[in-house]
Amino acid sequence: MVQGDPSARFSINHPLGQEKRPVVVAGPCSAESREQVLHTAKSLAEGGRVQFFRAGLWKPRTRPNSFEGLGEQALPWLMEAEATTGLRAITEVATPEHVEKVLNAGMSAVWIGARTTVSPFAVQAIAEALEGTDLLVMVKNPMHADLKLWIGALERVASCTRGQVCGLHRGFSSYGSSEFRNAPMWEIPIALRSEMPEVPLFCDPSHISGKAEHLQDVAQRAMNLGMEGLMIESHPSPAQALSDAEQQITPDALDRLLAQLDVPVQHVVNDDAQESLDALRLQIDSVDEQLLHMLDKRMTLAREIGALKHRNKWSLLSVARWRDIVKSRLDWASQMGLNHDFLSKILASVHEESIRVQGDEADKERSKQA
Ligand code: PEP
Ligand code: MN
Repeated sequence: MVQGDPSARFSINHPLGQEKRPVVVAGPCSAESREQVLHTAKSLAEGGRVQFFRAGLWKPRTRPNSFEGLGEQALPWLMEAEATTGLRAITEVATPEHVEKVLNAGMSAVWIGARTTVSPFAVQAIAEALEGTDLLVMVKNPMHADLKLWIGALERVASCTRGQVCGLHRGFSSYGSSEFRNAPMWEIPIALRSEMPEVPLFCDPSHISGKAEHLQDVAQRAMNLGMEGLMIESHPSPAQALSDAEQQITPDALDRLLAQLDVPVQHVVNDDAQESLDALRLQIDSVDEQLLHMLDKRMTLAREIGALKHRNKWSLLSVARWRDIVKSRLDWASQMGLNHDFLSKILASVHEESIRVQGDEADKERSKQA
């Protein structure tokens, strides 16, 4: 049920917009015990840099039989943490029943997870359960890089809740191995900012990184792009965490990370054309970065092929294979509307480099045997 003017729900004059950057949401991936919840919230509050306390109650796990969260029984612990520390409690809701339980407990903020945002039916059901409330809702990006789906979810929620609605960038699942658990694809949140400049944007470096060591860089990047807030998982003893152990950091480590952030003063751009140009340039930077990663992946495969060919005493150059490659790639390119001559040149360079890299690898194999 869509009613009223959704853009009215993204009021930029909301108190969140006036707080100092970054607004920080921190806490464990999952609530594990009353002691863990209260102890973590207390340590985070003592650091003085955190405003929201997060903990997952209903955990969407990829495989069954992993820890699926403590559910409703842990709700009072989050409310107790809020009452004793002053940090605002927030948790993930994935169904209307979760919303009802959270509302009954008196919680004032929730987030919608990436696995839920992919389903307009699920988002609509949650949005309707939030009807008429003034909860703050953070909407994570969907698992895959579909900007429209993310925007649609924000609109569905905004048309129901009277509270602040924020975007929460947690990266996108990508095919193949990558240094990130979820590829940041910064061009997507940048495009969201261009399309919905009134929506405060949070970044979740924990689920992007998947490992504690990338958190600082990802958080810094989010600050450089002018995002309003961060959500970072923090656990008193990360190695013992029941979910997402590798990416969690202690409240002390989180405090150091936040202290080291260089937070640029957000410049106010009054010139629409300049703002569009900046946004497009940032998207180009991110796409180029991904292009380089893909080229690197391709050369790694070429190296493996080089070693395999050497072991089997096959020749490096296979003319028939190369002809097939050129033909299929040029067909794809013409379907995409890419210029034929431009792509022919790129393919020729890529091929030349692949053969060189394969040759290098074969030489290495040879010298190992010598
Ligand atoms: C989480 O925040 O713990 C979580 C499950 O996140 P996501 O929906 O981004 O995977
Ligand atoms: Mn998690």
